[in-house]
Amino acid sequence: MTELPTDMRASVLRGVRDLAVERRPVPEPGPRELLVRVEAVGTCGSDTHYYEHGRIGDFVVREPLVLGHEAAGTVVAHGPGADPRRVGERVSLEPGVPCFTCTQCRRGRYNLCPGMRFFATPPVDGAFCEYVALHEGFAHPVPDDMPLERAALIEPLSVAVWACRKARVEPGTRVLVTGAGPVGLLAVQCARAFGAPEVVVTDVRPHRLELAAALGATGTLDARRTTCADAGFTPDVLLECSGVAAVTGEALRTVGRAGRAVLVGMGGDEIPLPLAHVQQYEIEVTGTFRYADTWPAAIGLASGGAVALDPLVSHRFGLADVAAALTVAARDETAVKAVVLPRE
Ligand SMILES: [Zn+2]
Ligand SMILES: [Zn+2]
Repeated sequence: MTELPTDMRASVLRGVRDLAVERRPVPEPGPRELLVRVEAVGTCGSDTHYYEHGRIGDFVVREPLVLGHEAAGTVVAHGPGADPRRVGERVSLEPGVPCFTCTQCRRGRYNLCPGMRFFATPPVDGAFCEYVALHEGFAHPVPDDMPLERAALIEPLSVAVWACRKARVEPGTRVLVTGAGPVGLLAVQCARAFGAPEVVVTDVRPHRLELAAALGATGTLDARRTTCADAGFTPDVLLECSGVAAVTGEALRTVGRAGRAVLVGMGGDEIPLPLAHVQQYEIEVTGTFRYADTWPAAIGLASGGAVALDPLVSHRFGLADVAAALTVAARDETAVKAVVLPRE
């Protein structure tokens, strides 16, 4: 085995809008952990939110924190009890490791584990750095021909897979996706891959709607000009990915009888619910929180060509430019997903 360095570069959030590259010790892989050299990390709205506000809800950054949770890399070492044959493997990282023993974990809903340790969620450091240690069961091997930049985006794709599963999208399901950000664009593709013959997407940005159409949306609506109701589309499933309260309420009113609405987007704390419609049509409304057991399906979708991840990558930055990566969307309306390459 080649000698590993003892310290590494990490992009550290030291306070609101205060990111700096610092030297930190390379983590020591613990029991059943693998040490992974990080090759690509997607940026996410939650990273930007921590950078700009220092908190998301009850999660407050009190100590310096490494952001980044959409990561892929190469296994370079293993801790006690982990499979030594995995050194050299290329992996996509599932960034949350649950406790494995609580009621939620035992029922298979480990995304709801109260003891979850999730990258870039205080006090757990994330992946905008050169090396991370992770439980071997959460470092998922990817096919040899999958670029690691694509493997990093298995994480946001997992959010879409989980949303489609919660909505029970299947062949014949008519789907409305509100919001064509990265997760919305992945939800469109995932719904199609799950067999939805019609997937209509709404947004206010023409560039995003064009991209959605190119990626498989069967219909696009510019929400500045047309409402879902005007368009006469009655979905079985709403995948709400905009996080805009007014959009959510209006979209819920269009969902057909016995339909399902999955609220993925994060916006204000409260939204008005069109209660009469939800009751009379027996609409199931649910939130989603991350995902459970989605990596194998997401890797299959991304490697088999059913879902295209590469067109989402609009910008690339080195570790010294994480702040620029997290704010590019505010400067460039063509930005979709910025990726950080920690070795640059
Ligand atoms: Zn994310
Ligand atoms: Zn648990």
